[in-house]
Amino acid sequence: MNAHRPFDPANVTQINVKQYVDRWMVNISVKVPDAEATQTAESAESAVGIDVGLNTFAALSDETKVDNPRYLRKADKQLKRKQRQLSRKQPASRNRKKAKHKVAKAHQKVARQRKDFLHKQSHRIVRDHDLIVVEELKVRNMVRNRRLAKSISDAGWRRFITYLSYKAKRQGKRFAQVPAHGTSQTCLCGASVPKPLSIRIHECESCGRIQDRDIVLAKIILQRALEIPA
Ligand SMILES: [Zn+2]
Repeated sequence: MNAHRPFDPANVTQINVKQYVDRWMVNISVKVPDAEATQTAESAESAVGIDVGLNTFAALSDETKVDNPRYLRKADKQLKRKQRQLSRKQPASRNRKKAKHKVAKAHQKVARQRKDFLHKQSHRIVRDHDLIVVEELKVRNMVRNRRLAKSISDAGWRRFITYLSYKAKRQGKRFAQVPAHGTSQTCLCGASVPKPLSIRIHECESCGRIQDRDIVLAKIILQRALEIPA
């Protein structure tokens, strides 16, 4: 098995196993202990902040992460190969027709896998929490960068947020979006912690918090929502 990062088996909170045509996909959620998080858990127990990102699909304020579905990348590669094969076929030939059918099928497969992943993740999050908070999407800016755009469309953030929103509504849960302004450049203590995207660890000189930047961001997203008077 390939683990994308090391983890302590004692802290595993959830394991999702799924069989695909050619491989098994195991999604393991790991809780990272944090004394402070435990202390504040009473007030924010059923509330969760979510940061959707590129390095991982989503980081949650409960200090778990959801990995990007790599099988989508793989399916996408296969799709591209089939498209290349199609382009080499003689126009109006039988082989071309066959190749075209293959491309359509590959397209369908990617779309189905993507939707399935987003439904599962959003379902789990809404089931486990009463208040779900995300940032107002910054996708419009990021899609201008073409390299990032691919990851974004793969991850389907916009659809994910739509799923979260309607599933929450359907189950009588609360869903909120907070302005994204400055969320990645501040600390939970309020101090300014400027850092470029390449810096993955948040280090605050004021309060001493050293933590994964995406997790800190998810916590700040939640904090912002809790600060808004209900
Ligand atoms: Zn701080």
